[in-house]
Amino acid sequence: MASNAAKPKRLYQTISSVENAYQQFDRAAKFLDLTPNQIAVIKAPRRVVDLQLPVRMDNGDIRVFQGYLVQHNIGRGPAKGGIRFHPQVSLDEVKALAFWMTYKCAVVNIPMGGAKGAVLCDPKQHTTGEIERISRRYFSDLIELFGPDRNVPAPDVGTNPQIMAWFMDTYSMHKRDFLPAVVTGKPLEVGGSKARLQSTGAGVVHCVRSALQHLGTNVNGCRVAIQGFGNVGSNVAKLLWDQGAKIVAVSDISGAYSNKKGIDISAALEHVQRHRDLSGFEQGGAADKLEDAEQLLHVDTDILIPAALENAITAQNVSGVKARIIAEGANGPITPDADQVLQEKGAFIIPDILCNAGGVTVSYLEWVQNRMGYYWQLERVQAELSTIMHAAFKSVLETAERHDCSLRMAAYICAIRRVTQAAELRGLYA
Ligand code: GLU
Repeated sequence: MASNAAKPKRLYQTISSVENAYQQFDRAAKFLDLTPNQIAVIKAPRRVVDLQLPVRMDNGDIRVFQGYLVQHNIGRGPAKGGIRFHPQVSLDEVKALAFWMTYKCAVVNIPMGGAKGAVLCDPKQHTTGEIERISRRYFSDLIELFGPDRNVPAPDVGTNPQIMAWFMDTYSMHKRDFLPAVVTGKPLEVGGSKARLQSTGAGVVHCVRSALQHLGTNVNGCRVAIQGFGNVGSNVAKLLWDQGAKIVAVSDISGAYSNKKGIDISAALEHVQRHRDLSGFEQGGAADKLEDAEQLLHVDTDILIPAALENAITAQNVSGVKARIIAEGANGPITPDADQVLQEKGAFIIPDILCNAGGVTVSYLEWVQNRMGYYWQLERVQAELSTIMHAAFKSVLETAERHDCSLRMAAYICAIRRVTQAAELRGLYA
C-alpha cells in the first residue's frame, strides 16, 4: 500500500487544541464555583510572542522560520515548558500546550508556571549546523524572556538534550555567567539530571501501575498498545516490557506494527537505532504491519497509551477503542467528544496533565540540582519522581471519588485550586 496512508493523521483542522483545553477548564471551574474574576486571571495566556527568525542555511541562503513563545502563567513559579520543533505547529496549539503546562505543574505540585515555545521547522530536513543556528537564533531573540527565575524551557517534540545545551550556551554567553538552570533536559555533562531522558515515560508507568493496583490487577501479562515510539512511547514500552507487560502494538511515523504474542521491545529499539524509525520492522516476522496506522487504536488490548501528538482519538475513530485503561502519554490526545464517549463506556482515563507530568517533574529536580550545584545519584532522582507521581495520583483519585467525577476533572480541580490560591494570595501588583 502507499506509504502515505500509513502515516499518522494530523487533525488540526477539525479541532482546536486550545478549545479542548478551555472546555476542560470550564467544566472544572464549575465544580470549583470559580468567580469570573478568578477565571480571568488564570485561564488565558499572559504573554504570546510571534516571531520571525532569519537563519542562514548551509548553502548560504537565508530562510525565515516562524517561532512562538506562549507564557501562560507564572503565579506559582517561573514559566516552565518545552520547545517544539515541528513543521505544523499552530499558535493555537502552543497556547493549549502552555495552558496544560501550568496545570501539569500544579497537579504534581511543583513550584513552576506554564509556558511553551515552538519553531516551525522539520528537524529531519536540516543539518546539525542549521538546527544549531535555528536554536541559537530562537533563544537569543527571546533572551529577555528566559531565565532561571523567569522561563525555563525543556525538550519537546523535535528537540533534544543537544538543543538544550545550545540554548544554555547562548544564554550563558550572553549573560557572561554559567547559568545551567535556564533550561532543563540538558546533557549530563553540562548540568543535566540523571533519569531526565526517561522521566516522562517513567511517570506514565508510575501512573499505569497505580491505576492497575486501584483496579485490583497488576502489570504482569497486561496487554499494551502504544501510539508513538519517540522519547515517551519508546521509554514506556521498554519499562513496561521489562516489568512483564505484553506490548501488542506500537506505531510511529512509518506506521503501526502488532503482534498478539507480544513485540520484542529490545529488537524494536535496536531497529530504530539503526534505521531512525520502525519502517521495515515487520520484515523477519517480528510483527505484522497494520494497514492503517490508526488501527493501533483499535487493537485488542488492556491498556492504550497515546504517546504521539494531540487529537489522536477523535469522534471519528473512538468507537473502535477497546482498551479499559487509557494513559495519556501525549498532551491532549483525546478530543472532548471522544473523551465523553470513552467516559460513557467506562474507560479509566489517566489524564495528560497527570500522566505525562514525570518529564517536567524531573526537569524541576534538574533545576533544583543546578541551583545547588550538587548532583544526585540516579536512585535519588528516581525515588523523588516516584514519591511525587504517587502522591499526585493518590490525590487525584481521592478527588475523583469525592466529587464523583472523572480523573481528568479531578486533576483540574486539584491543579486549578492551587493556581487560584496562589493568584489570590499574591493579589494584583498595580
Ligand atoms: N515538554 C515536556 C512536557 O510537555 C516537558 C516540559 C518541561 O520539562 O519543562 O511536559
